[in-house]
Amino acid sequence: MHKQIDFSKHSSIKIGPTVDVFVIEDKHYPKEYTMLGHCNNVLLGEELPPLMILGKNFDYIKIEDGLLCIGGATAGGRVLSFCKKQDIAHFELLPKLPGSIGGMIKMNAGLKEYEIFNYLHSIITEDGEILKKDIPHGYRWTEFKGVVFEARFEIHKGFNQAHLEMFKKMRDNQPLDPSAGSCFKNPKDDSAGRLIQEVGLKGFQIGGMAFSEKHANFLVNLGGGTFNEAIELIQLAQKKVFEQFNIHLENEVIIIDTRYF
Ligand SMILES: Cc1cc2nc3c(=O)[nH]c(=O)nc-3n(C[C@H](O)[C@H](O)[C@H](O)COP(=O)(O)OP(=O)(O)OC[C@H]3O[C@@H](n4cnc5c(N)ncnc54)[C@H](O)[C@@H]3O)c2cc1C
Repeated sequence: MHKQIDFSKHSSIKIGPTVDVFVIEDKHYPKEYTMLGHCNNVLLGEELPPLMILGKNFDYIKIEDGLLCIGGATAGGRVLSFCKKQDIAHFELLPKLPGSIGGMIKMNAGLKEYEIFNYLHSIITEDGEILKKDIPHGYRWTEFKGVVFEARFEIHKGFNQAHLEMFKKMRDNQPLDPSAGSCFKNPKDDSAGRLIQEVGLKGFQIGGMAFSEKHANFLVNLGGGTFNEAIELIQLAQKKVFEQFNIHLENEVIIIDTRYF
């Protein structure tokens, strides 16, 4: 099945064309297609490769063999409600982490030392079950092939309301304008936001896009922002930070455009 998606509405940064996307309904899919989750960490250009998403069959939560088994298309918000109801711990970070479980696993999404991999048991891809210990991973990166159809987590009892409040507070400094979250990964022992501010780009705007006044590492769409404006800002920040600090800012946002692979 195919579905038309307008990425200028569907993506969190509100940029992208309307295109036909392949919807994975069983575990079969065209291997050369590029996978998308809920589009909270991607910047889509005008020259897109063929795209695919998981269909509704992959939106579920169940407890099986003592593990919490979550379909790759399931939204974090739904997981949080489930864990609250079932008194399950360690998912309190989800309300401020928009996206699908598949996208979170691929990005090893998290806040400070709290990462989605912490209590992961295994993932299910077309190669079957892959245990966490066999998946190389670290700060916002993972290495595995294929699509996450399901993620399985250890179950620890005790939903922690205080943790939930702490995570909500940690995100008080985030801008509310459309963005894809942090634009760059934090370099070791430093902060991308600090470096962007130091080179004078906090609040700097090109067209409709800007490094937020509220948090410099958030590339925000202030209205009508385009892919090219976003790329211009990303490259400008990388150039200035490299010139001044000899540090290469690595993108956290995934750029999807055949010209940038
Ligand atoms: C306001 C805001 C705040 C944010 N704050 C944080 C934060 O504090 N910490 C943090 O870590 N992130 C943060 N993010 C980024 C985002 O929440 C995470 O990266 C999340 O994991 C993205 O999930 P998604 O489903 O939207 O993935 P997408 O953005 O659609 O995709 C991200 C990557 O995952 C891959 N992918 C998606 N689904 C699958 C799948 N099923 N199988 C295999 N690969 C897949 C895609 O190919 C792509 O490479 C923030 C984003 C926003 C908009």
